[in-house]
Amino acid sequence: MLRAVYPGSFDPVTNGHIDIMERSSKFVNTLIVAVLDNPEKKSLFTVEERVAQLKEVTKHLPNVEVRSFYGLLVDFCRQVDAKLVIRGLRAVTDFEYEFKMALGNRKLNEDVETIFISTSTKYMFISSSTIKEIAMFGGSVEDMVPQYIKNCLDEKFKSREEK
Ligand code: ADP
Repeated sequence: MLRAVYPGSFDPVTNGHIDIMERSSKFVNTLIVAVLDNPEKKSLFTVEERVAQLKEVTKHLPNVEVRSFYGLLVDFCRQVDAKLVIRGLRAVTDFEYEFKMALGNRKLNEDVETIFISTSTKYMFISSSTIKEIAMFGGSVEDMVPQYIKNCLDEKFKSREEK
């Protein structure tokens, strides 16, 4: 039974992330999408909101589970009995950071292997931070996130305006 963890902030989840989930869920038995609960990192959506959003947009993938975690990724992997970590790569700029993190994780736990999946070209320029910027200024994020996430963004920025 191959169990893999796809960790990230997913603030919010984008079509680029979903593409990685769809592709990687085909070659593992269970894919655990893990939202990092990092109180140091300022996020637009709470961890609970992100978990709920991820559950909604991965409904069509029966072997995907969504969880949140706090602390070290390798400890979470041990906890859920996963030996594989999936990360997505957009461009060379992602590489250095991802490579360092993979090496760090291997040092902490040799049993956990990281594999990288390259983005599909159409999602290459999509990142959660650009989505937030576009949505904040009322631009269209269509084709970049599912309709459900677009609605969540609209609601979030509307409720912020009202405050
Ligand atoms: P983190 O804060 O851990 O980088 P993100 O939610 O930004 O979390 O990203 C999670 C993973 O998904 C990372 O490996 C990132 O490189 C990858 N990723 C982000 N956007 C895309 C995309 N458009 N295509 C493919 N992979 C992506």
